[in-house]
Amino acid sequence: MRLANKIALVTGAARGIGQAIAEEFARQGATVIVTDVDEKAGQQVARDIGDSAHFWALDVGLESAWAAISDRVRDDFGRLDILVNNAGITGFMSHPGPFDPEHFNLDSWHAVHRVNLDGVALGCKYAIGLMKQSPAASIVNISSRSGMVGIPAAAAYASSKAAVRNHTKSVALYCAEKGYPIRCNSIHPGAILTPIWEAMLGEGEARQQAIAAIAADIPLQHMGTPQDVAFAALYLASDESNYVTGT
Ligand code: NAD
Repeated sequence: MRLANKIALVTGAARGIGQAIAEEFARQGATVIVTDVDEKAGQQVARDIGDSAHFWALDVGLESAWAAISDRVRDDFGRLDILVNNAGITGFMSHPGPFDPEHFNLDSWHAVHRVNLDGVALGCKYAIGLMKQSPAASIVNISSRSGMVGIPAAAAYASSKAAVRNHTKSVALYCAEKGYPIRCNSIHPGAILTPIWEAMLGEGEARQQAIAAIAADIPLQHMGTPQDVAFAALYLASDESNYVTGT
């Protein structure tokens, strides 16, 4: 029960890494607000977790949606202890490409940044207001290894994830300077097998070959699981990481 009595909100928690984080946090004693644009899958995740989870619809790129959810958290719980800014897109499945630096579509570039960067910045903005009432609060931003290296075929994704890494440090320093009880850190997963990869994997034997090719490039020689990331998020969300911020 490493998160006993904590109120946590996870974005993009209807599947993949966000779902694993919501489930792990609930197992560790937190009350979890599962949020996503996919209402059907999000509701199912909350139902499967049980009484300690609630599903609330949230498009992270919309400031009015954050304002509304922030009012609801204040009314229902009085404070927020943990925010995981997890929602993120590559743009591959939802927006026209290409995504390379020479030919990218500007609308698609903006759409990726709207979710991956604006979504994280707005989450931090509204969480800071809700977390001042917490005895010890933590914001965990899910960036990516793509935020530390260039990705020629996914330039908008890489740019947005690099910005998340940097914004995490601004938030951490701001909260420290203000004396707020709020830490802020980012996680940079490698290749984690979730639906985000579907557009890149294909089907049948081609899919197995694609996964093997990705694995061959990874020092540990296999893709990670959403649970692997959930354990990192658990540490950063819990009071065990009390002296960790801006990392
Ligand atoms: P996923 O595609 O499986 O899940 C993403 C979830 O975010 C979905 O439920 C989707 O409905 C939701 N979402 C999309 N747009 C949204 C919006 N505007 N508002 C709210 N929710 C929205 O992806 P995943 O692999 O679980 O990725 C989760 C996070 O981890 C993302 O930020 C991703 O960039 C990051 N990440 C993933 C990997 C990986 O290999 N899977 C690696 C590094 C970082």
